Amino acid sequence: MRQLLSELTAIPGGFAHEYPVMCYIRDRLKGKVDTMQIDGIGNLIVSKKGALDGPEVLLAAHADEVGFCVSCIEPSGFLRFELRGGQDSRTLPFMPVVISTDKGPVRGIIGYISAHMRRFDNAEKVTDYKDLYIDIGADSAEQAMEMGVALGDAITWDTPLTQLGKDKWLGHAFDDRAGCAVLIKMFRTLDFSKFHGTVYAVFTVREEGGLLGAGVAARSLAREHDFDVALAIDTTPARDTLEPKLNDHGVELGKGPTVKILDNSYQATPSVVKKLQKVAKENGIPCQGEIYMGIGTDAGAIYISGCGIPTSGISIPSRYCHSAREVVQETDMYQTVDLLNAFLMSLEDKDEFRYKL
Ligand SMILES: [Zn+2]
Repeated sequence: MRQLLSELTAIPGGFAHEYPVMCYIRDRLKGKVDTMQIDGIGNLIVSKKGALDGPEVLLAAHADEVGFCVSCIEPSGFLRFELRGGQDSRTLPFMPVVISTDKGPVRGIIGYISAHMRRFDNAEKVTDYKDLYIDIGADSAEQAMEMGVALGDAITWDTPLTQLGKDKWLGHAFDDRAGCAVLIKMFRTLDFSKFHGTVYAVFTVREEGGLLGAGVAARSLAREHDFDVALAIDTTPARDTLEPKLNDHGVELGKGPTVKILDNSYQATPSVVKKLQKVAKENGIPCQGEIYMGIGTDAGAIYISGCGIPTSGISIPSRYCHSAREVVQETDMYQTVDLLNAFLMSLEDKDEFRYKL
């Protein structure tokens, strides 16, 4: 799992530039799924049928990551940038980035005034990203362009996955390559000879800009399929650090995956939430209930597609989300796969989650 996540997060896949990530996932799933296609917006859609009849299940994890794009090449060779996804300007200065250009990756750092020159700055103010810039070592705009940099190029964090302590991983883009890794693991480990139904999984694009890829995929798939249940697999911010206001009813690292109940994008279908919690209990998998209005997930676009799909989600707790250095715990990753697999293997009844009159 660590190897898989390390490789997945090493691929730059900023908003609208997810194609290299999709190619990697395609290669990992060759021979493990029955169908594979990529749609017009760039979503990778795969499916696998079990040996037994049963429900049609829709799963989603987003392949994009929070990042930036080049908005201006200054005459001095520094780059200005626009945000792609929910970034916090306080987290940006001095962070390493990589720009995906036609000539290959160009490395840089988000520049800002040095500590020695603090007296020339307003130390109380948070510097807006528009006042920051990227230093790629170019001395002129011409040199930057010779290096391959062009307007619109995607910029992502350049922080490789490393071990933190004995069981935690530090890196970027866990949101949501961690979810992609979980889906890949599921296809590699689930015993489809005993599975009832068909699994459709969408590796979505453009989640960080409004759940756009998931909306396109769910609407299009719902024209041909009457999905019985859907789950979005994503990360969710842990609230177990020292900031006092975060400590009430917070999600913690190491306490297992969360079962989504409510976020800013949707309220989960109660029958799906209860089933996930029941399956976790029966299989001895720790899990946490998740109510947090500070985020949204692909599920928010999926549940209102077609005639409406019973939907919830499973999330992996992550510290410092949407920064260059996120932290997840190894056991939470494995238990997310365990919970997803146990949930899928528990399905038999097509109508289990439907409202009935
Ligand atoms: Zn996410």
